Amino acid sequence: MKHPFVCILFVLFCLLMAGCGTEEPAFTLSRDDFSNVSPEGENFTIEIRTIGSWTATSLNDDWCTVYPSSGTGDGTIRIEVEGNLEADRTGKVVILCENERSEINITQTALPAGEELTYRIPVIFHVLYKDPMDRYQYISASRIRQVLANVNDFYDGKPRWTGGDTPQDINLEFVLAETDEEGNELETPGVEYVQWSQMPIDCVSFMNSTEKRVLDLMWDMNKYINIVLYNFKDYNDGSVTMGISHLPLSTQGANYLEGLYSVEYTHLENSNLGYPQCVSINSLYFYEDTDPGYYNTADVNVTLAHELGHYLGLHHAFNEDERGGLVRDCEDTDYCEDTPPYNRYAYSLWLGDFYANPDGLTKEAFQREDCNTGETFLSYNLMDYEISFSDRFTPNQRARMRHVLEYSPLIPGAKRISSTTTRMAPQGVLDIPVIYRKCTRCLVKGQ
Ligand SMILES: [Zn+2]
Repeated sequence: MKHPFVCILFVLFCLLMAGCGTEEPAFTLSRDDFSNVSPEGENFTIEIRTIGSWTATSLNDDWCTVYPSSGTGDGTIRIEVEGNLEADRTGKVVILCENERSEINITQTALPAGEELTYRIPVIFHVLYKDPMDRYQYISASRIRQVLANVNDFYDGKPRWTGGDTPQDINLEFVLAETDEEGNELETPGVEYVQWSQMPIDCVSFMNSTEKRVLDLMWDMNKYINIVLYNFKDYNDGSVTMGISHLPLSTQGANYLEGLYSVEYTHLENSNLGYPQCVSINSLYFYEDTDPGYYNTADVNVTLAHELGHYLGLHHAFNEDERGGLVRDCEDTDYCEDTPPYNRYAYSLWLGDFYANPDGLTKEAFQREDCNTGETFLSYNLMDYEISFSDRFTPNQRARMRHVLEYSPLIPGAKRISSTTTRMAPQGVLDIPVIYRKCTRCLVKGQ
């Protein structure tokens, strides 16, 4: 009875020796060389074939990210290369498997001088809901896609209304995130639904929150813009807060951008902030549009474009103080010379009378008075609100947003960082003031 068993062992031993003899590699990669990667940035996938366990590590993870970092057996490895505003560069991703090592080489040229990068910024909508049956809480992904497409039209410089100054193409597209923070493909791109114990939520408390569950909600701010949708708590004072957004941080020194709080670092991580840097949108108004020929102060497409403007460093076009309060004197407080300053306090008083006797919207309601020159102009700026055409940005606003994209920490996309500065983030929560803009207006619809 012993013979068959010994025989099988012998055969197995022979097979094992034969396997070693042919020196089969522990793994194979479908591709290991990526030269001439576009300066705009590119994503790649590589197939790994193996029966072993493996790890994948980028040696240049400030501009080249690899997902997942480990696996067992056959798998797909995703490499994301960011846009390159600096100098030509080479990078390596190292694959280790069963004591064998392979390198994936990446070569990327810099964007030629004088050319401008088209930013494609991933956004993730965190939809907070208490009641999944309530469509004003559980906002559909198709509606989110529709609104983001309209927002992109504004950023492409496609105006809704005739007249006014030439709309600016910011050369920036907001894209629904395709993958989560671990590189897994999202079933619903750019959207996650999160059950929340209370609804409505006080938006100011939310933006100032130090609660773990709020901070944990935020995905990597260096990779995504976090947009949170929830029902805002109403204060029953006749006006409604449509959205609220943090302002970005600026670096110090030569690339400081006035009007922003500056930090001595060029790179930070979520963990350095004690608050959830994000955009919040009042989901009670998420289905509001502007019908052709009509006007609607609650239009969510305008609201989201406006809040993203704040997130990228824009102030309101009207006069306000450093904390967003109205000022009565004539001051140009948005650091953009091509947006005439107007006294919003005076306009609000005028508007109060106007709302008391609404005879339909007259041209005067769209008019503002430049408090420096006394000249009147029609409001077309997305960073203005109340009764405004709100469909475009100016060249100075464009320059501010592009500056923030190129330099600000915790803003996704390729950065201009000199080779002498470090990309190491400091440890722990920094003492940074929470600065946001709360955007409150009266509800008016008209023709
Ligand atoms: Zn605002």
